[in-house]
Amino acid sequence: MKKTTVAPDNFDLFDGVEEFISDSELPTIADLQRMFDIYNREYFDGKLPKVKIRYSKRMLVAGGYFPQKKEIRISEKYHTFFPDEVYDTLKHEMIHIINFRHDAAFKKMARRIGASLRANDHPALRRPPRYIYICHHCFTEYPRHKRLRMASCGKCSKGKFDERFKLVLKKRSKKAAVQ
Ligand SMILES: [Zn+2]
Ligand SMILES: [Zn+2]
Repeated sequence: MKKTTVAPDNFDLFDGVEEFISDSELPTIADLQRMFDIYNREYFDGKLPKVKIRYSKRMLVAGGYFPQKKEIRISEKYHTFFPDEVYDTLKHEMIHIINFRHDAAFKKMARRIGASLRANDHPALRRPPRYIYICHHCFTEYPRHKRLRMASCGKCSKGKFDERFKLVLKKRSKKAAVQ
């Protein structure tokens, strides 16, 4: 698996960062651990204990934190569909290390640091994507929950953003239009 192009320096600037999208390439465990350390320093004063991070092949919800094992599990299935959410999921599960419930304090924190609000709740793979992007070169479709700004097709681009293979919005669900 290759690294994503979200540079650690830009970790809180996702919206403005050029994204290179590829369906099959999720961050490595080392990437996730590095981001864990960065988020820990930035948002938790470095107070979170070290936990294990691993991908789960079976999990249908986006992620989970297992306190008995001190382990964050990130759903591989879910993030193969929605790779742009993987770091939001990581942040969500990090909050669970200190806050087990999705209570008001959890939600406040989640909003502040850009974590997903309901990673454990949404029936991940049953939730329809709000946006469908397409590459007009190879016609691969990319379903996404979030709007993409600068993204190019992972199959056609050679490891970095390529204007020629820019993903184009093909369909947007009504729900998204309201937001
Ligand atoms: Zn949760
Ligand atoms: Zn393509």
